[in-house]
Amino acid sequence: MRHSSFLEVNLSLLGQNFQQIKALAPKAEILPMVKSDAYGNGMIPVSQFLVNECGVKKLGCATLGEALRLFDECPDLNAEALVFSDSELLNEKAREAYLHYNITPILHRKCDLELVLKDPSFKKMPLILKMNTGMNRLGLLSEDLDQYMPLLKQRGVEHLLTHFARSAQTIRPDDKCHKQYQEFELIKQKLRQNGVEIRSTSIANSGAIEQRFGVEETLVRPGLMLYGPPSVLDPVTWQGQQVSRLVTKVISTSHVKKGTPVGYGVNVADKDSFMVAVALGYGDGILTFLSGTKLLMNGHVGKIFGRVNMDVTIIQFDSEAESSFKAEDQVEIWNHDSKVITDISLQSKTHAYQLMCSISPRIPRIYKVK
Ligand SMILES: *Cc1c(COP(=O)(O)O)cnc(C)c1O
Repeated sequence: MRHSSFLEVNLSLLGQNFQQIKALAPKAEILPMVKSDAYGNGMIPVSQFLVNECGVKKLGCATLGEALRLFDECPDLNAEALVFSDSELLNEKAREAYLHYNITPILHRKCDLELVLKDPSFKKMPLILKMNTGMNRLGLLSEDLDQYMPLLKQRGVEHLLTHFARSAQTIRPDDKCHKQYQEFELIKQKLRQNGVEIRSTSIANSGAIEQRFGVEETLVRPGLMLYGPPSVLDPVTWQGQQVSRLVTKVISTSHVKKGTPVGYGVNVADKDSFMVAVALGYGDGILTFLSGTKLLMNGHVGKIFGRVNMDVTIIQFDSEAESSFKAEDQVEIWNHDSKVITDISLQSKTHAYQLMCSISPRIPRIYKVK
């Protein structure tokens, strides 16, 4: 564990982002995604805040283990956890959990649907069906439902959903998002024509919500935007604040002459430089492909020099930066301006999702409500 390198998570900003999402989707219930440790922000405090302060009733996990952790650590949490991808329904021991906790699996494979429709112990389980409308990753096809129509008619569908493949791009008439939406509408129609009641629906993740696309469905499922960064970058319309601030500490500084090798391997300073070693490395989730990324620190633009190491990263500045840094100073990798993390993600050819999810357990999460 670190002490002076930490991720400060400001829950008030999470609350503000939540309210902004409400304004974009005023009619919809918000089902926040808290999978992957709430995108690195800490699933437990984030979920407690969303339920207790924002009135959220449903939380989106990816795995059964995440949902179980939620109830193990917060037994009084007044919410339902949905398991989106790795439900473990075919694992006889694991699936028992669905009978004892307020956890519901998303059914996206025929084998899971078959089990839940036919195994008497699941006869009261609400049916949440995830349809493949063109993303072609997970999901049931329209024709997969045909043989089950009589059973579906008996039980009704609690929640029918699908997921966009390209909502992070500007949505235009007749594009992929529209095609997926049309397919979703056809599936709804078919179910209704067969007398199947559909009690709720959802389609929009962050990119779609930012563009107010699919926000007329019963629910919306924001992930990324809740934690700050925009999905649609060209142009950015989402004005969420970055909920987290990644703070580290200067361990040591040095002047090096042009031509001096610094660190592992053969990375040689290409100019006279002021090198700042900070207390973060890939062991903390600063991935090696961040090498070369430019960062603005204390008013100077530096560049991640050479390889990122396990415990240390070296940032190269011009010699004049000397007066702005000394050992033990706090410095920020990203702050509450979501442009900063977006800029780092673009430079390093990744996305803010991965930067946030990579922050390892060695970095303490410090919660703030201002
Ligand atoms: C992760 C996920 C979301 C949230 O996606 P963002 O792009 O982070 O908003 C929504 N729906 C499903 C099915 C997901 O798996």
